[in-house]
Amino acid sequence: MISLKGTGVSSGIAYGEIRFISRKKNTVNKRSVSDTRMEINRWRKAVKSASKQLLEMSRRQEGSEAAELFETHRVMLSDPDYVEAVEREIKNESVNAEAAVEAVGKRFSQMFSAMDNDYMRERSADVDDVSARVINILSGNAEDQSAVVPASPVIIAADDLSPSETVTLDRSTILGFILINGNKNSHTAILARTLGIPAIIGVGEALDKTLNGRYAAMDGSDGIAVIDPDERMMRKLEEKRQKENAAKRRLEALKGKPDVTADGKSIKVYANITSPKDIDAVIENDAAGIGLFRSEFLYLGGSGLPDEEQQYEAYSEVLKRMDGKEVVIRTMDIGADKELEYLDLEKELNPELGMRGIRLCLSKPDLFKEQLRALYRASVNGRLAIMFPMISSIWEIREAKRICGEVREELRAKGIMFDENVPIGIMVETPAAAMIAGDLAKEADFFSVGTNDLTQYTLAVDRQGGRAVERFYDAAHPAVMKLIEATIKAAHVYGKWVGICGETAADTSLTEQFIKMGADEFSVSPKSVLPLRAAVRSSKRN
Ligand code: PEP
Ligand code: MG
Repeated sequence: MISLKGTGVSSGIAYGEIRFISRKKNTVNKRSVSDTRMEINRWRKAVKSASKQLLEMSRRQEGSEAAELFETHRVMLSDPDYVEAVEREIKNESVNAEAAVEAVGKRFSQMFSAMDNDYMRERSADVDDVSARVINILSGNAEDQSAVVPASPVIIAADDLSPSETVTLDRSTILGFILINGNKNSHTAILARTLGIPAIIGVGEALDKTLNGRYAAMDGSDGIAVIDPDERMMRKLEEKRQKENAAKRRLEALKGKPDVTADGKSIKVYANITSPKDIDAVIENDAAGIGLFRSEFLYLGGSGLPDEEQQYEAYSEVLKRMDGKEVVIRTMDIGADKELEYLDLEKELNPELGMRGIRLCLSKPDLFKEQLRALYRASVNGRLAIMFPMISSIWEIREAKRICGEVREELRAKGIMFDENVPIGIMVETPAAAMIAGDLAKEADFFSVGTNDLTQYTLAVDRQGGRAVERFYDAAHPAVMKLIEATIKAAHVYGKWVGICGETAADTSLTEQFIKMGADEFSVSPKSVLPLRAAVRSSKRN
């Protein structure tokens, strides 16, 4: 029995096989080559090895969905158009095979993702996979990548995962996450909580690759994982799981009950989502609305930008399924840890202070307008509110609103229907926004406090910083609390409502304090809705 200790960042108990996923992405260096024949031979050999790998993997998992997928990848590798395109690229551009596979893979994947048919669009991720496999082999790394497509549910182990890597994993095959590194406030941890998947971070090097395939039991609240647990350990965890399930069942009794404080103030208890797929959990946990749809996750994980139609469909699906309940969709908060390789943004020294959120939208108005068009068109399907992230100055919200006005005007001119009264709000997640909340409240219909970023920018502690700085990141720091209180007061002067949608919104030890400050709404991961409802119902304003 081996014990691993880290920080639990998403609660729940899970048992299963450990599956390591390698996130070593090969960075492709483009080189000019004089002997293109030799390069073509290298490529052909790599294709043979890749095909052999895939065949072995599909045999090992015969009859499973994964086996079918590996077969599809094998067929792709022998597709004459793909093969010819790579060989032409090597010859015509006189480049190394890795660069040719990367360029052709990107082109093919973009072509697939632009297709009308859902099935064909999904093939774009397969082209990426196949190309990555060949590049991996060309780069001298013949490691079996079957781990990234688990056939049966497993506990995923990795050194760390970026949000875009996490979002591409098939959630139905993940029992839990155990990470060597990782950070409590990262979007990967947030994603695990949103999906309700137990997760432990920071277990260190004790989690080494030789543990791949071993049976483990993990506890996402205590941050403990045990490899080859003995009977006593299993019994202990099982007892805890049953207790947790019993507590969950008790909370079920709160379904359908109003979110109202013990002294009579109605509070909105909403849920955070990252994808239309999360709506099942929102409905299951009886949230009164969606307070934060992190729309940028629609852009992550794919190989190209989702077009207006794809976005329209995603937003419409969420609005329709929420059936008239309020849905706050945040415009894309790309940047910082949520990198989009295909946007080719300049590398930044301090990405958390760089081109992210509204800054990127105002700098790329065409991209912004495409999203706004999709949002306004979808608005006829439910009760939409639009929210801008990372606002720190008045001119930013004014300019963003002016662009919304242009989009509405264009839709009107084309006779396209939309809701003329979609409220426009902002995230308050920079100290600047909190300090000028009074002026911003004249422009915004509502505020939602993003405590994750507000904490990092107020305390000057990177929310993704290493373990050494983690203890300096205190979301309940008096400075952060003062800013939240000042924001709520300023907004109420202008009759605007204020929500809290960062991770502290789910900390029930702070619920009463936030309610005393005047908070009107909380938005939390679906799993935290009922515990929060209980905390709201036992809190008082005075
Ligand atoms: C926040 O900063 O608190 C927030 C809700 O936004 P995100 O975590 O996506 O940055
Ligand atoms: Mg934020």
